[in-house]
Amino acid sequence: MPLPKAELHLHIEGTLEPELAFALAERNGVPLPYADTEELRKAYLFDDLQSFLDLYYGLMAVLRTEADFEDLADAYLARAAAQGVRHAEIFFDPQAHTARGIPFATVVEGLGRALDRSEERHGVSTRLIMCFLRDQSAESAMATLEAAKPHLDRIIGVGLDSAEVGHPPSKFAAVYEAAGVLGLRKVAHAGEEGPAAYVREALDVLGVERIDHGLRCVEDPELVERLVRDRVPLTLCPLSNVRLRAVDILEQHPLPRMMAAGLLCTINSDDPAYFGGYVDDTFHAVHEALGIGPEGLRELARNSFEAAFLDGGPEEEALRARYLAEVAAYEFD
Ligand SMILES: [Zn+2]
Repeated sequence: MPLPKAELHLHIEGTLEPELAFALAERNGVPLPYADTEELRKAYLFDDLQSFLDLYYGLMAVLRTEADFEDLADAYLARAAAQGVRHAEIFFDPQAHTARGIPFATVVEGLGRALDRSEERHGVSTRLIMCFLRDQSAESAMATLEAAKPHLDRIIGVGLDSAEVGHPPSKFAAVYEAAGVLGLRKVAHAGEEGPAAYVREALDVLGVERIDHGLRCVEDPELVERLVRDRVPLTLCPLSNVRLRAVDILEQHPLPRMMAAGLLCTINSDDPAYFGGYVDDTFHAVHEALGIGPEGLRELARNSFEAAFLDGGPEEEALRARYLAEVAAYEFD
């Protein structure tokens, strides 16, 4: 049995495996420029950001109906459960779909249907976080927040993702302020390829509660001190960092240094269909490559539940306490 954990940095669109992509393409009559799943699987071995993004956005064409989004989320939840995930806070990118003419409601209701059944079917509690594409305009983000308003019973927070450099957090100050007024939680990708200054901006200007990635905070000792002092969680994605060349090889990942500095680190799978592994695979990889032993892995699992948005009253706190007890009781073989 894998170590129980929460996954807090997972893009549902990044869980589209070649087999499901082909099945949905057939169901919807969408032609794919690949002969079969094997050829598509080879395309997943991209070696730079642009070929990843081309493939990622290209394949989204197969997602058209509520049932497609439901099947996508259900397939992820089944895999996550097998990897020890007990709680998942799942990102989705509404603009990647509305730009293709898919209504916001189709996306969120389809995902929501799978999430509604998740505890019963997979034993995984879930939350949904909608991300704004930071390479799109601030106006487009605001329009997306507006479109989300009828669906806020399904969405607990907002995030910020996609190409980071040149799109600082401050660009989205107004939409984050509006999201706060609506009672939404706030996270943002920062300090992945962008500088440590973007991490500061995400905290100071957007008021985020967690930083997604945040890898480059290590370049700024004062910032590290602040993140440690304020217990700001970082949702790191080591396998993604290697595939997208934020670090050259996993053996050079700063995770052990970051943990030793007292940062509240979590590890996650980001876009697991594309980056070579789901979250328990990531736990195994950091154990092998970085020598993080059982107690380090237990700390990462404990952090994942501490950093989860499970603070909405006594029922959620009880759920968190139950998960933390499972982590404490876990026996490594
Ligand atoms: Zn991400």
